[in-house]
Amino acid sequence: MTGTNLCGSTADEIYNLIKPLGFTQSHAVSVAVSVYRKRIADIFQFQKIPKRLMEELYKTTYSGIFSPAESIRSEDGSIKYLFRNGEGMVYETVYIPEGKRKTVCVSTQSGCRMGCPFCATGKFGFHGNLSAGEIVNQVISLPDVPDPTHVVFMGMGEPLDNTDNVLKACRILTAEWGVSVSPGKVTVSTVGITPGVIDFLRDSDCNLTLSLYSPFSGQRGTIVPAERLFPAREIIEIMKNFGLKGKRRMSVAYVMFGGVNDTDEHLVELIHMFKGSHIRVNLVPFHKIPSIREAEPYGNDPTGITSSTSERMLYFKHNLVISGISASVRRSRGIDVNAACGLLASGLNRSSRHY
Ligand code: SF4
Repeated sequence: MTGTNLCGSTADEIYNLIKPLGFTQSHAVSVAVSVYRKRIADIFQFQKIPKRLMEELYKTTYSGIFSPAESIRSEDGSIKYLFRNGEGMVYETVYIPEGKRKTVCVSTQSGCRMGCPFCATGKFGFHGNLSAGEIVNQVISLPDVPDPTHVVFMGMGEPLDNTDNVLKACRILTAEWGVSVSPGKVTVSTVGITPGVIDFLRDSDCNLTLSLYSPFSGQRGTIVPAERLFPAREIIEIMKNFGLKGKRRMSVAYVMFGGVNDTDEHLVELIHMFKGSHIRVNLVPFHKIPSIREAEPYGNDPTGITSSTSERMLYFKHNLVISGISASVRRSRGIDVNAACGLLASGLNRSSRHY
């Protein structure tokens, strides 16, 4: 494809493109709505624009809407999709239906360079950033998801290692001329890259989730290498000091490893960290990546880690809640198709094309 990718362009950028040809801002909005809301891939089917504009767009632009290459459905109704972009990079998207809630979990990179040792995406290596258009396309091109209610940036990659494209994707997802999802229903999840966190909190109204893993810096550094450069404590202070705008929510995801980060000492420190703040704590079960799951007990796994029991997770939740901290236990989805948290890319290798 050559020319300008319309999926990934703002209404203003489209206007700047067509203004010299004598077209108006409202034509630009019609083009954006045709792409993002009507999901029309064929420029000659765009709505509410003159034929001459269609012909001009056809010469210099392309819609940028493309379908996933493959999909696999979980027993629980979740669907995992494999995308392949024009450069051959592969990345995955997960659709998670839950009653009226229809969540799409998007990737922001092919692979990841953060190197968290327990994560399948980290083991897949880093193959490149996704553009804003490639991120938005994961929301508007899914054949079985006509109208997602929520979007979470929790797929492959560290979103704030690709901040410009993520911020632009958030703008397009929440704009009236765009996909038009409420900012309170879009959540970006990060292991914590301080400059990216500051830019994101300043330039977006969407929700932020920090993946914490441990309240103790020394221990967190062994689980999340980024801790050594960008300590979580610093980021939590920034989150606390940022006022909440509109329906924005800030939270931490706390993946629970049995006997590793679920001791009473950890609980006391979590309470100390979040008491009196507006930050919510989501307790998340740990999912072993398949090569580790199928091995002899701990055979392949240098750390020997397993998830905390559900009793222990409920105990943490109970104690956080009675300390005045908003807390919940997240249910696992899509484990059978490796679509759960930390498992994306576990069926892929560098040249992978199939599940
Ligand atoms: Fe990257 Fe997140 Fe996996 Fe860490 S946990 S390697 S940041 S995808």
